[in-house]
Amino acid sequence: MKVTYQTRNGRLNVQLEGDSQRDIFGEIAKFQEVFEEDACAKCGSENIKFVVRNVDDNFYYELRCADCGARLSFGSHKKGGGLFPRRKDSEGNWLPDRGWVKWNPKTEKNE
Ligand SMILES: [Zn+2]
Repeated sequence: MKVTYQTRNGRLNVQLEGDSQRDIFGEIAKFQEVFEEDACAKCGSENIKFVVRNVDDNFYYELRCADCGARLSFGSHKKGGGLFPRRKDSEGNWLPDRGWVKWNPKTEKNE
């Protein structure tokens, strides 16, 4: 079975495929987790860009707010090449602003 799914903001259409409703459900869930972020959680702007940074052949995937410069970083699953938004810190605690961070030049920290 094939399903055409459109993100809430209408910017992306994707065709998802699966043999069962469970497969389709899982595919939509994976897609939404990465591609359905509508707005910057710091300033509310919908002007967000997909950015891939290459640092010494390590690739960093992030959404960046074009208005305030905040970022949401993505980690990659070890298997299958999938991405997930980093909404928790390294100890498993939920981050504020759904994981969006902004560089503060005064404290030289992501906040
Ligand atoms: Zn912003």
